[in-house]
Amino acid sequence: MPVELKGMPIGELESFFSAEGKERFRARQMSRWLYQRFADDFSGMTDLSKPFRDQLSAGCTLTAPACELVDGSSDGTEKYLFRLQDGESVESVMIPEEGRTTLCVSSQVGCAMRCGFCATGAIGFKRNMTAAEIVNQVVFAGKRLKARDQLLTNIVFMGMGEPLENYDEVSRVIEILLSVYGFHLAGKRVTVSTAGVVPRMLSLSERFPVSIAVSLNAARDDLRSELMPINRKYPLKELVGAMREIPLHRGRKVTVEYVLLQGVNDSLADARDVARLLKGIPVKINLIPFNAHEFGDFVSPPRSVADAFRDVLIDAGMLAITRGRRGNDISAACGQLSAGQKA
Ligand code: SAH
Repeated sequence: MPVELKGMPIGELESFFSAEGKERFRARQMSRWLYQRFADDFSGMTDLSKPFRDQLSAGCTLTAPACELVDGSSDGTEKYLFRLQDGESVESVMIPEEGRTTLCVSSQVGCAMRCGFCATGAIGFKRNMTAAEIVNQVVFAGKRLKARDQLLTNIVFMGMGEPLENYDEVSRVIEILLSVYGFHLAGKRVTVSTAGVVPRMLSLSERFPVSIAVSLNAARDDLRSELMPINRKYPLKELVGAMREIPLHRGRKVTVEYVLLQGVNDSLADARDVARLLKGIPVKINLIPFNAHEFGDFVSPPRSVADAFRDVLIDAGMLAITRGRRGNDISAACGQLSAGQKA
């Protein structure tokens, strides 16, 4: 079996090259080729000797990203559809904003969380993605932006899947994203979002200085369990306990996402419950008006309701914003990713 080098963090590349009897700096060279220069084959790696390149070609593979479709939104957002080697597909979304460009990446094909309002949950779980497949989304977007003299500045694990249910491969990718020999991003520019896999939330945040986002979506256990089955395993008390424990680097807040569903979780009483639940935790709350898709029949509340909800939180001394609908016209907004699967 040829060895896949794409997806290996620097430590793994070092072990690989040392086992092959190569010098240690070869790993750094390779890491730069893969994650900074976005190389897809060995032939262009001109600082490696020809025999060495031939040897690599014989024993190793470098899987290239296979983007089948680019969909552009009127607001500049782009959605990419990737075909994986076994025929499965996933999507990522590139979101340009003032002063930063964010890529929202998928970590699983489908998702096992089955949150009632999410299109990815509706298609169910297919499989975990490999580190190579996850990182290739970043490689593809990085290369595309580089051609426009732009840089990818932020990565959010908010695409398809539950990143903490694919802990090992996601951890390898985070190592690559943070490494000086990889994408060299600051931890605060990498956000891992979770539906609330409590034990792994803590271990990940102890291991890496990344930002954590929690999809809260309800502040009462009965309602949250109905909307998000994971709540039966890790109820609010445990989730909020973990949010208190997550090591907070100076000035860093835990992001909280809250999808607003009309008549379900959008009342002023719900807002007061959120404020009470999160009291004393440094959080930044993103209110996301429900984005419609073909898999469910929830409805988004009107803007005025979203604003009133936000104001209750602000009056309680919290940082809260209502998120705009980026990429809604190309089904690239939160909760709309289904990679072309139909209901
Ligand atoms: N599984 C992880 C990563 C996905 S993030 C997690 O749950 O955090 C995707 C975000 O979009 C989550 O915060 C989710 O609550 C939100 N979301 C899902 N469906 C949505 C929809 N239809 N409209 C708006 N937001 C939605």
